[in-house]
Amino acid sequence: MKNKKLKIKDFSKDTKQFTHIENEELVKLPPPYNEEEPEWKKIPDQQKESVEASLDDTLVLSIPKPASAQEEEELVKKFLSGLQKLFTKENNWTFLQPLLLTLDYCAKCQTCSEACPIYEMSGKNELYRPTFRSELFRRIVKKYVKPGGKFFSKFKVGDIDLNWKTVSRLAELAYRCTICRRCAQTCPIGVDNALITHELRKVFSQELGIAPKEIHKDGSVLQLKVGSSTGMNPLAFKDNLEFIDEDMEDRTGLKIESPFDKEGAEVLLIHNAGEILAWPENPGAFALILEKAGVSWTLSSEAVGYDGINYGLWYDDVQLARVALKHAQIAKKLKVKKIVIGECGHAHKAFMVIANRIFLDELNVPAESAMTLLENVVFSGKLDLDPKKNDFPVTLHDPCNLVRLMGVVEPQRRILIHICPQFREMTPHGVKNYCCGGGSGFAIMSQNNFKDWRLSISGRKKLLQILEAFKDKPGPDINKYVCAPCSNCKGQIRDLFQYYKVWERSAITYGGLVELIVNAMVDVKESFIEWEWH
Ligand code: SF4
Ligand code: SF4
Repeated sequence: MKNKKLKIKDFSKDTKQFTHIENEELVKLPPPYNEEEPEWKKIPDQQKESVEASLDDTLVLSIPKPASAQEEEELVKKFLSGLQKLFTKENNWTFLQPLLLTLDYCAKCQTCSEACPIYEMSGKNELYRPTFRSELFRRIVKKYVKPGGKFFSKFKVGDIDLNWKTVSRLAELAYRCTICRRCAQTCPIGVDNALITHELRKVFSQELGIAPKEIHKDGSVLQLKVGSSTGMNPLAFKDNLEFIDEDMEDRTGLKIESPFDKEGAEVLLIHNAGEILAWPENPGAFALILEKAGVSWTLSSEAVGYDGINYGLWYDDVQLARVALKHAQIAKKLKVKKIVIGECGHAHKAFMVIANRIFLDELNVPAESAMTLLENVVFSGKLDLDPKKNDFPVTLHDPCNLVRLMGVVEPQRRILIHICPQFREMTPHGVKNYCCGGGSGFAIMSQNNFKDWRLSISGRKKLLQILEAFKDKPGPDINKYVCAPCSNCKGQIRDLFQYYKVWERSAITYGGLVELIVNAMVDVKESFIEWEWH
């Protein structure tokens, strides 16, 4: 089990657990965070007997152990037939070309490994090396999918056996990568290891019905059934919005009434509905800003139309298409000029990058990021802003989907530089940012002890970056703010801060961009940022 000895050919062997990480192997945190690491929850042995749990120290999928060798064989066959589909135009026309390019060749230079925060923070555990997963995939495809593969693969690419152990471990391994694509960005020949993660997840969901319950059953399925993956139906959504409007009036003294279903509005604003329940001040601040700036805008109260979440993006093309289609149809029905996506990175990618390149007919609805809309509002002079009201240290977290993937880098910075006199960048930032560690659905996954894994390992680099950005004011005597204009990133940062007691130790809080804009508004007399942990 020692990390350095992990070999791809051993992945299919019937060993108890492929790897294990000790706390001491993780990259050290600075004082006082190095004093003691939070204790990991243990997965009970009894549970391990009934589900597949032989990869590492955590568990996302809890795949029930097959009852017989025959059942195992059937599952392996299904996996193989799913793999074959990935390489046909009819079944995978969206991703076939980049997948073939990625599969073709890897120079094994390991530039990508150096870029991966999970690999680095784990103490360079081989299992989390970006190429480990990809190489497994590559070998399986070359041996079992390509013609003549079984005969030549041993000599050409190294051997791997495709048995149930390999398949069930691969399923879990597809959920040890945040799809942040930092590795893809650095690869000198354009190999996209994150795409392999994505395609694996897709085979497991679409062909074997294996997906984390948080993003499937409690995610996209719930969203299509009741209207939102939060479980909020249209009625509850409207009630919540009315409550938010009232609360905004109490907090700012300014009356607002969020518009619903206004036909012909310029902008249909779609939030990540998680904001409405977890951070209601965010949709409230949006409403205040847009009303004050005189933007013609509306929300939709139709099921799915008030929730920009599209979890299918991370694991299932069919679910992705179903949700995206609803968004486009609702915009068409309302006859709005464009959709504006609120502070949610994956919602941006799902609609603006994927869906809008697939809907080539009348469903191709113009779409804009909230970042550019807000930049236009802030610099239009329509809001009376006083930067002195934001005179505390602020740094910016770059959501991977918004920044690295879409190139929306500068608008949010220009706003922060304009309204926050103590703004400072993280290192690195912009397109070279590090993921919050909650990407690709991780932020909402906490089953078993996965929360320990995502906070100790996948979120560790972000915690280090945040502490580094405020290292000139490390203590709890000065309040500091991490601006994270993405609902999923905020969820992960909230959990990170709770786990490591960041508020108590360093007085760092977090929130979105619109909250800082409202906080700077001269008309808003009280501090809109709440300097307390909740
Ligand atoms: S950077 Fe690219 S070529 Fe180099 S090891 Fe990684 S995937 Fe292979
Ligand atoms: S996508 Fe991100 S988390 Fe996944 S292997 Fe690449 S760098 Fe690591």
